[in-house]
Amino acid sequence: MTTTTDTAVTAEAGRDFIRDIVQADLDSGKHKTVVTRFPPEPNGYLHIGHAKSIGLNFGIAREFGGRCNLRFDDTNPTKEEQEYIDSIQADVRWLGYDWGDNLFYASDYFGRLYEWAEGLIKAGLAYVDDQTQEEIRLSRGTLTEPGKNSPFRDRSVEENLDLFRRMKAGEFPNGARVLRAKIDMAAGNINLRDPVLYRILHAHHPRTGDTWKIYPSYDYAHGQSDAIEGVTHSICTLEFEDHRPLYEWLLDKLPVPSQPRQYEFARLNLTYTLLSKRVLTRLVQEGHVSGWNDPRMPTIAGLKRRGVPPAAVREFTKRIGIAKANSIVDVGMLEFCIREELNRTAQRRMAVLRPLKVVIENYPEGQVEELEAINHPDDPSAGTRKIAFGRELYIEQDDFMENPPKKFFRLSPGNEVRLRYAYFIKCREVIKNDAGEIVELRCTYDPETKGGNAPDGRKVKATMHWLPAAQSLKAEIRLYNQLFANPSPNAADFTADLNPNSLEVLTDARIEPAIAESNSAEPMQFERQGYFVRDADSTPDKLVFNRTIGLRDTFAKEVAKG
Ligand code: ATP
Ligand code: MG
Repeated sequence: MTTTTDTAVTAEAGRDFIRDIVQADLDSGKHKTVVTRFPPEPNGYLHIGHAKSIGLNFGIAREFGGRCNLRFDDTNPTKEEQEYIDSIQADVRWLGYDWGDNLFYASDYFGRLYEWAEGLIKAGLAYVDDQTQEEIRLSRGTLTEPGKNSPFRDRSVEENLDLFRRMKAGEFPNGARVLRAKIDMAAGNINLRDPVLYRILHAHHPRTGDTWKIYPSYDYAHGQSDAIEGVTHSICTLEFEDHRPLYEWLLDKLPVPSQPRQYEFARLNLTYTLLSKRVLTRLVQEGHVSGWNDPRMPTIAGLKRRGVPPAAVREFTKRIGIAKANSIVDVGMLEFCIREELNRTAQRRMAVLRPLKVVIENYPEGQVEELEAINHPDDPSAGTRKIAFGRELYIEQDDFMENPPKKFFRLSPGNEVRLRYAYFIKCREVIKNDAGEIVELRCTYDPETKGGNAPDGRKVKATMHWLPAAQSLKAEIRLYNQLFANPSPNAADFTADLNPNSLEVLTDARIEPAIAESNSAEPMQFERQGYFVRDADSTPDKLVFNRTIGLRDTFAKEVAKG
C-alpha cells in the first residue's frame, strides 16, 4: 500500500527538488497529504524510463504517507488496447508498487470533461473550428511570428454549442471539426494559441465502447483528471514544461474541485537504448525482436524476462536521481545495479556454455564420486550441494589452448589447473577430428588433490568450472548483447543502428542437475559466466536460459592468483 509511512524507505531515499517541494508543502500546511499519480497512455508496454517516473510518483507517496493513483490516460482509442492496460498493471506491481484502490481511467471522466467543455463555450472561451488539421497547423505561427485567427473564431455561443453537440452526436466525419480553446493566437507560448480540446474520432474505445465520437486532447484531459482526483503534485517530464501555462489556464477557467500543480523533471535517456514507444512498437511490429518482452527490449517485461530483479531497477532509478536538466545515463550504471543485486542474491551453479570433452585417463572407469559445492560464497546459510565427478567431463572450449600465449594460465598441454571443488588435472593429449578441430582432451588427475588443494603445497594458476558428462543436462542458452550497436541510436532511422549480434544462441550447453531443479524464477550465477535465468520457452525436454548479464571477470582474476 502506498498509504503507509515507511521510515526506512524515507531515510534511504535520496532527496531531490521535487521531494523538497512536497516536504515544504506539507510543512507549510498547504497540503495535509500528498497525492501523486502515474499516468501511462495504454499504447505500449512500460519501459525503464517509466520505471523512473513510477519510482518517483509511488516513492513520494510511500515516503510521505500519501497516495499514488494509477491512471490510464486513455484518450486515444485508435492506439490503445486492453493488452497494454493489463501489462502496465502487471509491470507496476512487479516493480514493487501498489495503487491500492486508486485505479482510474481518464475515460471515467469523459462525461464531466464534456460538460466543462460546454461551459467553456458558454463563457466564450472555446469555439468550433472547421479548418483542416493542416490549416490549423499553418496558421499557428512560429516561435518568432504570431499565429492567425481562425475565420471561425468568432462564431456565436449558440452556433458553437450546436456544432459541438452535433460533433458529439457523430454527425461529422473524422477531422471535419475540432473544439479549440479561445486564448490568444499571438501568445508567446505556442501552446496557448487556441489549443485543440476535442477532436472527432469514430473509434471503438476499450472501455467506453462506441459511446463517444469525440475525444479530449491530452492537454484538456490531463489537468482536469488530476483535479478530479485531488492530485496535489502532478509530476511529468520536461517536454510538458511549455504546456504548464495551458494546464493552469484550464484549471483557472473550469469549475474543478481542486488545484493541482505541475512539476517537471528530466526524462531518462540511456546509452545504446531508445525509449520512445513509437520505436519500441516498430521493433515489435517489424519483427526486429520477438515481442514486447524480448530480453533485449528496455521494457519492464523484457527486463523481467531477462532475469533482472525488480530491486535492481529500483536501485537504479534511485541512483540516477531526479534533475531538471536532460542528460544521458550510461547503460553501464543499470548493469552495475543488476550485478550488485544478483551478486548478493543469486545462488552459484556450474554450467558449460561451449563444451569440450575431457577424459580423465587415470580415473577408474564406471566410478562416480560426489563432491560438495557451495551455493553462495558470502552466505553460508545458502548451504551446499553435491556434484558428481567421473571419468568423462566437460570443460569450456575457451579454457583450453593447444598453443597458448605467455599469459594463458588455463588448460594447455602439460599445464596443471584446478577443477573447482574437485582435483588438479593435466592435459596429456589433444584429439582432433578430420577437420582439425579439437574434439577431446585426454587428461590425468592427481587423486591427492581432492577438494582442490595439493598436500605438497604446489599451486596452480587457474581454477576452472566443469561438469560431469553423464550427470549433466543439455540446455539452450541465449546470450544477449545491446540491441543497438551505436551508443546513441538514431530514433528516426534506427534500423541501421541495430546490433546484428544482439542475440547468440548456444544449443549444446550443459548444466548441472541442480540448475534444472532450482526454482525457475530465480536467476542464478553460472560460475565464471554471469547470471542466468530460466526462460518461459523451456519445456520438460529442453531447458532454455537467458543470460541476464555477464560477470566482470573478477573471479578469473582471483583464481589467476592461484
Ligand atoms: P513515449 O514518449 O515513449 O511515447 P510517453 O511519455 O508518451 O512515452 P506515457 O505513457 O505518456 O508515455 O508516460 C507515462 C508517464 O511516464 C509520463 O508521466 C511520462 O512523463 C513518464 N515517462 C515516459 N518516458 C519517460 C522517461 N524516459 N523517463 C522518465 N519518465 C518517463
Ligand atoms: Mg505521453
